[in-house]
Amino acid sequence: MSLAGKTAVITGSNSGIGLGVAKELARLGADVVLNSFSNSDADHALAAEIAREHGVSARYIQADMSDGDACRGLIEAAGVCDILVNNAGIQHVAPIDEFPVDKWNAIIAINLNSAFHTTAAALPGMRARGWGRVVNIASAHGLTASPYKSAYVAAKHGVVGMTKAVALETAEEPITVNAICPGYVLTPLVEAQIPDTMREYDMDRDTVIREVMLARQPSREFATTAQIGGTVAFLASDAATQITGTTISVDGGWTAM
Ligand code: NAD
Repeated sequence: MSLAGKTAVITGSNSGIGLGVAKELARLGADVVLNSFSNSDADHALAAEIAREHGVSARYIQADMSDGDACRGLIEAAGVCDILVNNAGIQHVAPIDEFPVDKWNAIIAINLNSAFHTTAAALPGMRARGWGRVVNIASAHGLTASPYKSAYVAAKHGVVGMTKAVALETAEEPITVNAICPGYVLTPLVEAQIPDTMREYDMDRDTVIREVMLARQPSREFATTAQIGGTVAFLASDAATQITGTTISVDGGWTAM
């Protein structure tokens, strides 16, 4: 399968899942636009490395996904956006009566509102070019809940709902809109939690991963960023032309329980 000639914009892609998705789409020949809120040499170096390794065009564009105008500006600066991957996201854990208002607002802005703004900005170009794919990185928490994650669960359920609505709006067009719902994915953020959790539970690495971190993931294995990238690539393929308005879980069986 080749994505040569397509341009993918991946929000929040200087680490973790977003970076994994960008690498996989570039490996398949897509030009990619990386993004985050920072603007460091390391950010631009990531894009240069992807361009060198895969022989595609890769750019890094700074834009803060908590700011609606900046979200729309990212799509404008990209110029072309055939594949939009709404991935930027943050988390905060607290009981609802103690949930900091600024954290609530930031989670809703970055995890949900940003996808509204980028999708609204990207659709006219997709229509003009006669092809488009919107892939929203939701979560198992877009389908189920956990305590103390009210903002994240609300935002991710919102992403799944918006995915369905926009899929219906574009159903007769050569554009699909879907959401991927990962369970636990081994990103640098998750990896960094392992040593503390090992100390807290006095367990070795494998036991803490299996018995504590992946207690709700029946496979007892993390998903990988490459697997999420592969799922995005599938949704961008011709085989997925009639897949729209739905969710694909990559969660080792979490939501089957
Ligand atoms: P991560 O922290 O490694 O990546 C998040 C990305 O979003 C980073 O590139 C970060 O710079 C970017 N970002 C944060 N705030 C931003 C802002 N204001 N503007 C622009 N970019 C911003 O985490 P991750 O695990 O790779 O998460 C990526 C997505 O996958 C998130 O939406 C997350 O909710 C979702 N997800 C992750 C897991 C998991 O287990 N890791 C599971 C389900 C869903």
